[in-house]
Amino acid sequence: MFSKEQLNAFSKTETPFYFYDLSLLNKTLDAIKKAAPEEYHIHYALKANAHPTLLELIRKAGLGADCVSGNEVKRSVECNFSNDKIVFAGVGKSDKEINYALDQDIFCFNVESTHELQVLDQLAKNKNKKANIALRINPNVDAYTHKYITTGLEENKFGINPYEFDIVVEELKKLPDLNFIGLHFHIGSQIGDLTPFKNLCLRVNEINKWFIQKGYLLPHINVGGGFGINYKEPDNHSIVDFESYFNVFKQFLELQPQQQVHFELGRAITGQCGSLISRVLYIKHGINTNFAILDAGMTELIRPALYQAYHKIENISSSSAKQVKYDIVGPICESSDCFGKAVELPETKRGDLIAIRSAGAYGEVMSSRYNLREPLPSVFI
Ligand SMILES: *Cc1c(COP(=O)(O)O)cnc(C)c1O
Repeated sequence: MFSKEQLNAFSKTETPFYFYDLSLLNKTLDAIKKAAPEEYHIHYALKANAHPTLLELIRKAGLGADCVSGNEVKRSVECNFSNDKIVFAGVGKSDKEINYALDQDIFCFNVESTHELQVLDQLAKNKNKKANIALRINPNVDAYTHKYITTGLEENKFGINPYEFDIVVEELKKLPDLNFIGLHFHIGSQIGDLTPFKNLCLRVNEINKWFIQKGYLLPHINVGGGFGINYKEPDNHSIVDFESYFNVFKQFLELQPQQQVHFELGRAITGQCGSLISRVLYIKHGINTNFAILDAGMTELIRPALYQAYHKIENISSSSAKQVKYDIVGPICESSDCFGKAVELPETKRGDLIAIRSAGAYGEVMSSRYNLREPLPSVFI
């Protein structure tokens, strides 16, 4: 739902653009702080949205940064996240990215393979530094989410599998420039039900016990992110139920008193505060459908084309009482450039403003220049 003032500003702004509701972001951050026990460390996953304006509010709320590329580490540093709150994951960290992160003395590298351990050790040695590492573990827990955003199954490329633990522990003994400080897990994204998180906790307990038996009482346990948002009803559920989410970990994680818990949330923090605002260019009457052709397409928001993601679509200009079904499509030369099929809207005409909701996470950051599209602006009101 948009205020009169916002709608008025939209009507004077060239489309398409991303609109971010900073007051909702602040309310979301307040809700996290209220729900999370004080000893939990929350890192924001920059890959969901790395806009400096959003990052500033997130940093001010006391969160750390979770990065999956060297440039995300750089962005966190530039946005004044303190270096000891920056973690860096990713299956394919380049030497350049690792060297940059070593220079920044980040808190922890989440290492995804034995081979990466060896490379990181060598690069740290070259700089006379010691790198803090957590092993990213593939817990083989099903997140029951879209297959493209499931990450914690044996078939996925992420993390180290339990059958490799003996080898990894032997290898670590030969790598003196790494400080082994933690275990890291991340099972997927847009997880709507809390059961996968409970299952994750139970796996973490087993794996943690295994390492303790081997003599590694690790001070940091990072359980990743993945908590989903409500795309169907963004206004009724603008802030996720963080209390229930954290309660699962409070209830089921069995850690030693010395062990600290870390989280990496992305979508649940920035997802609902952003909308893609676009204008209708043309209405086209097909045989069985009407098309509403927008000036925004998959180049601005790829989630529907990439993983059949649902976004609520609203005509925020029309007050017509007549409801009509439209296929809402973009201008890009791909048939997958479709935001929604048979979407019921008030009768829609050229020039109407269309809001595609819940686009604050994995929206703007995934936009591309395909078809030589213009980079699009962000608007904050
Ligand atoms: C993407 C990602 C996250 C955040 O996922 P959300 O679903 O946005 O909460 C956290 N940790 C890692 C390692 C990731 O790759």
